[in-house]
Amino acid sequence: MNKKINRRSFLESSALAFPIIFIPSVLKSKSPKRNKICGGERGITFYYRTHGFNSSEEAKIREALGTFASRFVHRWVLDYTYKKAGNAYCMKGGYWKDCNMHRQNYYSKSQMLRYQIKKLAIAVPFPEMDIYAYHKRDNTWGLSSSSHAIKVMNSNGIDIRGKFKMKLNRFYLGFNAGKAQWAKTIAHEALHNLGHCHGAQMEAFSDAVYHCLECD
Ligand SMILES: [Zn+2]
Repeated sequence: MNKKINRRSFLESSALAFPIIFIPSVLKSKSPKRNKICGGERGITFYYRTHGFNSSEEAKIREALGTFASRFVHRWVLDYTYKKAGNAYCMKGGYWKDCNMHRQNYYSKSQMLRYQIKKLAIAVPFPEMDIYAYHKRDNTWGLSSSSHAIKVMNSNGIDIRGKFKMKLNRFYLGFNAGKAQWAKTIAHEALHNLGHCHGAQMEAFSDAVYHCLECD
């Protein structure tokens, strides 16, 4: 049933429903700020954006990204991974072909991770990263948005396409986990973006990021 409403009460009720708020122009910008992170002498430098976190969560993510940036392409991490996981691998269907890797005869599928990390280590610019927020009281710390977000193409030079895209669980960002734990989560999701799925290789790599003995 429609209620009759006069002009004055309409204006009052709509003012209540949509209070006029003056938003500073900086908050109105469509895209979140692009931040730079630097992983030091043996690390990587790249840009990232966060979407939907509060300032203390952002500070935590920034700290973790500093650790990620100094460890993700570190030689010790790669050596540890292959020592621990051997020739194990798990790759999402289609990724190998999408990167044109079937047209080469040197790297096997188990060596794809080594190939990707070596290319990423010297990539200028390193791909950008988008990190989105979600909140769920389950056992997930992060989720990857796409298993094909980054393609490291079979090439003599460096041909890397796409951006890292992942989600981090705000439920756990509220807990007292350290930067190495979050760097491990980010590395895990980054590997998903690079076409890898769960298995011994991914587990060894994320563990190595967590407790790298020779990293900064
Ligand atoms: Zn996973």
